[in-house]
Amino acid sequence: ALAVRLRGVTKTYDNGVMALGPLDLAVRKGEFVSLLGPSGCGKSTALRLIAGLAAPSSGTVRVSRHEGVAQPGHGIGFVFQEPTLMPWTSVRENVRLPLKLARVPKAEARARVDEALASVGLAEFAAAFPRELSGGMKMRVSLARALVTDPDILLMDEPFAALDEITRFRLNNDLLTLWRDLGKTIIFVTHSVFESVYLSQRVVVMTARPGRIQADVRIETVEP
Ligand code: ADP
Ligand code: ADP
Repeated sequence: ALAVRLRGVTKTYDNGVMALGPLDLAVRKGEFVSLLGPSGCGKSTALRLIAGLAAPSSGTVRVSRHEGVAQPGHGIGFVFQEPTLMPWTSVRENVRLPLKLARVPKAEARARVDEALASVGLAEFAAAFPRELSGGMKMRVSLARALVTDPDILLMDEPFAALDEITRFRLNNDLLTLWRDLGKTIIFVTHSVFESVYLSQRVVVMTARPGRIQADVRIETVEP
């Protein structure tokens, strides 16, 4: 079954920049795909189109999600390059925001926030403020916020770019564990060839702008 299907997708911005395509891409449910390509080739644009945050100029974007999803983002979790946390409120409130927007009842929201924080190893930091956390921990809070609505698809846009290598490596391992345990479909944008091969089952390499698919490679995963 497919999670995401792009057919003949192009994106030209209002200023006339042709950012993407034509792009054809099919991602199966449960697949972990890396998108690799030169800066400005349209990787973020592709993610925004999949998330429904922007409309394609031509072509179709189809995203399948389970029945009865009534959540913000419609079954899609998005993690941005910068952790974009609200600095004036606690980790718990940051993670709770998508549930608040979806009007999830308080008791249920509380349980789901606790679960999401536990899944990224930050249960004890629920009452902390973002400024008290390291870069790696802030990124894990962003991940918890993306997971709290239990999305089918997780889109990650160079999530670890700003972090040092050891933290990146640790978070990559956390992400692999989450992927194995939760069975999410993950589309991961990165600049790092190492990261793409290490993490994913499939590496999609894009051309320079406007980004098209240059190579689509399956990675044989070695069980640890
Ligand atoms: P990548 O993520 O691969 O670096 P982006 O999708 O961010 O690429 O950008 C692709 C191209 O589209 C770039 O040339 C960028 O400057 C341009 N672009 C991105 N967003 C906008 C926008 N909102 N308006 C105009 N041009 C944009
Ligand atoms: P970074 O690598 O960006 O500094 P880490 O996530 O590795 O971020 O955390 C840095 C420090 O924060 C750790 O060495 C540890 O002291 C503390 N820390 C991080 N996560 C936890 C946790 N789940 N429980 C207790 N302390 C933690």
